[in-house]
Amino acid sequence: MERLAGIDIDAISTAGLGTCIQFPQLDFCFDIGVCPQSAIRLRTVLFTHAHIDHMGSVVQHCASRTLLGMKPARYVVPPEHLTAFHGVMDAWGQLDRTRLHYDVEAVGVGETTPLRSGHYATAFRAPHTMPAQGYVVYRKNQKLKPEYQGLPGREIARLRRDGVAVVRREDVPLIAFTGDSTADVIDRVPDLRRARLLVMELTFLDDALSVRDARKRGHVHLEDLIPRLEHLENEHILFTHLSARYPHGRANALLQAQLPEAWRGRVTLLPHRLP
Ligand SMILES: [Zn+2]
Ligand SMILES: [Zn+2]
Repeated sequence: MERLAGIDIDAISTAGLGTCIQFPQLDFCFDIGVCPQSAIRLRTVLFTHAHIDHMGSVVQHCASRTLLGMKPARYVVPPEHLTAFHGVMDAWGQLDRTRLHYDVEAVGVGETTPLRSGHYATAFRAPHTMPAQGYVVYRKNQKLKPEYQGLPGREIARLRRDGVAVVRREDVPLIAFTGDSTADVIDRVPDLRRARLLVMELTFLDDALSVRDARKRGHVHLEDLIPRLEHLENEHILFTHLSARYPHGRANALLQAQLPEAWRGRVTLLPHRLP
């Protein structure tokens, strides 16, 4: 478990092998391509897409919760994958001679789903080799309208009593997750650039694979990322989904060598890890 930009996060992610990004305080994770024991107690899983390294351990998650007497899991699935998702769960139920209990919600691009204690997630399109989406997680927030700022508390309380709307909704983008995506997702999603913590895939880092080929595979190449960093306002970035071809030390050296000064100490490259 780590604390990045003031947010507790427990992440596992290696390209092709498995991704699961847990936020225990908010009772959810992104994807469940591997199912670490700690993810079993998280009720909500927000799926980015249906590649096996992002969805393949859902049966394990679902069955473990039932076995431990927990509430059925809540799976948020991109609508394009809903039918096949049910198909897989039904097939496993047949194999296991049981019925898997879970709730499922199809949430498409631009749509929103509630999370714990005044938080919610909105899906955005992530360009990949199949229908895929990322999410921005917001905290609901109310802010005093500019015309009332600086007034004494007594005065504001009086206005409120008189029925004046002194506050307006101004939700805070807390976490953004790209899932698997090309780097231009940064150009398309303003709140991804503003989120306090950005969790972003970074799969390829050198010319073992060209930028063009990385894009064709629907992934981020370091060379495609670096020029875009100046558009990001995030407090911290966690890079995930590193290709297994790079030992962590070498990958980190490649990243640090190209990282602009302003980002030093504000990025973390997730090491390869087993569940
Ligand atoms: Zn992947
Ligand atoms: Zn993928």
